[in-house]
Amino acid sequence: MSSFLWSANFFDFFRVRVPVPLSQWADEHRIVPAVGGSEPGPWRTSRTPYMRQILDDVTDPGVRQIVVCSGIQLGKTELLLNTCMYHMLHEPCPMMLVEPSDDLLVDIGADRIDSMIRVTPELRPLFGLTDEHKAKSTKTGNLKQYNKRFPGGYLKLASAHSESDLVSRSIRVIMCDEIDKYPAWGDGSAVDKATGRSSNFVNYKWIFTSSPSTLQNSEIWRRLSLTARYEYRIPCPHCGEPSQWVWSMVQWDHDADDNSDPYTARIVCPACGGVIKGAGAASDVLLATGSWVLVSGDRSRGAVGYHMSSLLSPWLPLSAIVDEFLSACHNRDIDRLKTFITDRLAEPWDERPAPWHDSGAAVEKSRFESSPRHETIAAITAGVDVQRDRIEVSFWGWGSNRESWVIKHDVVDGDPSIAATWDRFARVLFQWVDLADGRKMRISAACVDSGDGVLTQMVYRFTSQFEDLHVVSIKGRGGDLCPMFSAPSRRNAHKALLYVLGVDKIKEVIADRLNIRTVGPGYIHIPEALKDEYWAQLNAEKKEIMVERGRTVAVWKKLRERNEALDCAVYAFAAFELFCIGRRRASNIKAHTRRRIS
Ligand SMILES: [Zn+2]
Repeated sequence: MSSFLWSANFFDFFRVRVPVPLSQWADEHRIVPAVGGSEPGPWRTSRTPYMRQILDDVTDPGVRQIVVCSGIQLGKTELLLNTCMYHMLHEPCPMMLVEPSDDLLVDIGADRIDSMIRVTPELRPLFGLTDEHKAKSTKTGNLKQYNKRFPGGYLKLASAHSESDLVSRSIRVIMCDEIDKYPAWGDGSAVDKATGRSSNFVNYKWIFTSSPSTLQNSEIWRRLSLTARYEYRIPCPHCGEPSQWVWSMVQWDHDADDNSDPYTARIVCPACGGVIKGAGAASDVLLATGSWVLVSGDRSRGAVGYHMSSLLSPWLPLSAIVDEFLSACHNRDIDRLKTFITDRLAEPWDERPAPWHDSGAAVEKSRFESSPRHETIAAITAGVDVQRDRIEVSFWGWGSNRESWVIKHDVVDGDPSIAATWDRFARVLFQWVDLADGRKMRISAACVDSGDGVLTQMVYRFTSQFEDLHVVSIKGRGGDLCPMFSAPSRRNAHKALLYVLGVDKIKEVIADRLNIRTVGPGYIHIPEALKDEYWAQLNAEKKEIMVERGRTVAVWKKLRERNEALDCAVYAFAAFELFCIGRRRASNIKAHTRRRIS
């Protein structure tokens, strides 16, 4: 910085800069680092032709607000990085980038932005870096800080969860990333708090990006409806009719056994029926023939909105998108279907509760099985709920495609603050469970609730002894913003592995599965012996949509006092997802290994 301070470059920053279209500027100056960017090297707007107009709106003095509602793999983060770099070099000013979580803040702030600065010769001197710092990833200069200063301005990196981060000095360019994941504050949304910073600037700029959440709740969808809204229309190579690519234009073939084949996926022109593109990713040549068409609103008001589905992605093959859809449908996995709708099609999910649980309707007798068929059970997990005078445990069997069987529910009476109660409970937890097909199995994993506060230490003490058998402590957290599973920690006296569970999300999946009426993927089998009290407890809570602090939230309401069966179901579900499914098992093994070393 000091060498820079009195150089010609320093005074150069106080010149009045004429805005240059950002797409053109980025083509001339931006270098995409190997970290994070899918295609390292010089930036080429032509690779994502639909980004050209959006980039140029960033530097259009007539545009105050840009709303981008998009799916994944479209280059949305590059829009923010290009904006940052342009304002660091060409039009310095105070900027703020808000991310919905600390993880994302580190990812984009410490990794993507720092590596962009490191690989760009023009940016390095602004942050006190020399050419030798190019390849180094050590702490250097002004990097690794959440307030990146450069001559004429700074970039503040803020978390939407930190109220103090959002209350700061005047800021001209405010970028709010993934706004549908922001929490609500007591006095207005995090977005309102952030944008309140720019009132001193007549030439302020707001950029909002996100994939939408739910129809009832989506902030990006609401903001999009208030803008001059554009659609990206690409002319059909056969008849020339321009159309916006939507899911209803996607077709695929079936084989002789009526199985869907995603490799035959194609986008079909609604006007002439011709194939616009095949199963691969969209080519930049085809994408470049399209253009943004204003479909509603008035651009002169300064707010522009863009809606893009991942069908436009030059990196995501159509076959992969169709495969995701087919797999969610095949497994009757509503949670994955929801992710598909919101993150791929960039459309909000309609969150009206399913009718069965809404009406509390009587359940037909055939719902309960007098002679359950356990032949396809591959693993058993346990969910454990600890009460002041007893410990309750449900044993769940798991087959393929998340089909599951409630096998039994046991109650161990006794005071859990006494070690002897836990000794008796251990014998129940590790018993040989008799299956209907004559097999005997022991649990593969168990989650024990430690959230009570009074008995927490006893739970940690118990699970820390049996971690090698995949018995772990959990703590439930409500709210639709809490992820289903967070990274585990060991910050407790017994160094016990502790997972925080987003219990509301898990309850939603269980409610969806209880609503499945036919045996197959996702179906939950209930034995006849549990048709009364257990079934009532399993259905003890109902999802309600409420308005809280100006934001609609889903709240689980207790319909009756006893609900241990539902809690145990949540924990048995978590035990299966955490320890019996390949993709999560790897990270758990890592957590276990760390403990052995320490
Ligand atoms: Zn056509």
